[in-house]
Amino acid sequence: MNVMKDEANSDYILDRVDFIDIHWLWKRYIDKKPGYAKAATKNKRGVRCKTVTAHKLSYETFVGPIPMDKEIGHAKSCPYRHCISPACLSAMTHSQNLLMRA
Ligand SMILES: [Zn+2]
Repeated sequence: MNVMKDEANSDYILDRVDFIDIHWLWKRYIDKKPGYAKAATKNKRGVRCKTVTAHKLSYETFVGPIPMDKEIGHAKSCPYRHCISPACLSAMTHSQNLLMRA
């Protein structure tokens, strides 16, 4: 019988990144456009199948819940779009996030 390993999100993430300085580079699926890392999260039954951005999962796992009116932005100083290091992520409003990308 195939039993799925019940990994905590922190193990799931740390097993799937390469560490370069403060950066955590996602080694799994990356969207061609816009180049963001994609991770799988658990559904209500604990099965890992729902796809989310790895940035969001990393932030929620290592920093905390994302405030209702905020989204996760990626630091301009970080050269890696698929980096999901909590050090390179911050919660911001949508308009702040658009300015970051400009
Ligand atoms: Zn980074």
